[in-house]
Amino acid sequence: MHRRQFIKTTAHIAGYLYLFDLLQGCKSSNVHPIRLAPDAPYTMKYLRGHIGYFAERGGTIGWLSSKDGVVVVDAQFPEQARHLITEMSHLHKIPIETLINTHHHYDHTAGNIAFKNIAKQIIAHRNSLTNQQISARQRNVEDAQLYPNVLYDKTFQFYSGKESILLRHIGPAHTSGDTIVHFQNTNVVHMGDLVFNRRYPYIDRPAGANVQNWIEVLDRTLELFDRDTLYIFGHAGKGYDVIGDREDIKAMMAYLENLVQFGQKAIQQGTAIENLIAETKYIKGTESWDPGGLERNIEAIIYELSDHPD
Ligand SMILES: [Zn+2]
Repeated sequence: MHRRQFIKTTAHIAGYLYLFDLLQGCKSSNVHPIRLAPDAPYTMKYLRGHIGYFAERGGTIGWLSSKDGVVVVDAQFPEQARHLITEMSHLHKIPIETLINTHHHYDHTAGNIAFKNIAKQIIAHRNSLTNQQISARQRNVEDAQLYPNVLYDKTFQFYSGKESILLRHIGPAHTSGDTIVHFQNTNVVHMGDLVFNRRYPYIDRPAGANVQNWIEVLDRTLELFDRDTLYIFGHAGKGYDVIGDREDIKAMMAYLENLVQFGQKAIQQGTAIENLIAETKYIKGTESWDPGGLERNIEAIIYELSDHPD
């Protein structure tokens, strides 16, 4: 190539690359790594597209930022919710439009109050509201609640920017009011507490939990979503992540199936629940898990399988 021609071509390419970088920069200006203060007590990261998560204390928070506003899934506790709201205001100059509660447990809804006069709507399953009201009354913390103001029964769909968000309640599982949140275009799913990733789950029978149906709900989850789906889980055991894939859903399902089998066998053998708790170190397949919560899981499955009123 002639020297002058070479310089001209190179300059052209450099120009295009510069323009390309600029365009890329515009397109992805919201998806740079999030810079947190070095002593920040929380984790906040982008996961895919404009969807990310926040973890500090309580159930993992998911969020989406779009040109219409921010959508937040779950609220942890007031202090944690305020941390998230502050970080969001640094990241985006757009309002928080919607808060979704995956269920009523206070490590997911106590932070609702921090969204007062900030979020335009709080969406939850109808039973989540009832459960939250009962729980707040029992713990005498009704004043500290901010309740959902948009309720649904089976599914609820809305849009934020280009993202379509579909909420589903499949049936009683962790509680009677669980919601699965699907960011459909980006293919990210927040499972709430339907998955404790390799950790003994809380089975809230007084709030309508049902282990056998929980297995069905997870089975349906595997049918509804695909191999590309990225999941956010409410909690994870030590050394495991609150972000995962369908293998983690299968692991949770396998645990619940083993728990049911364990309960059926114990009932057949007529073992007293106190002896069962004293003698059991782990449920099949959970040898390496932290033992915290095992006792309550044993109690819950025996009560469920023997129709105990609690
Ligand atoms: Zn929960």
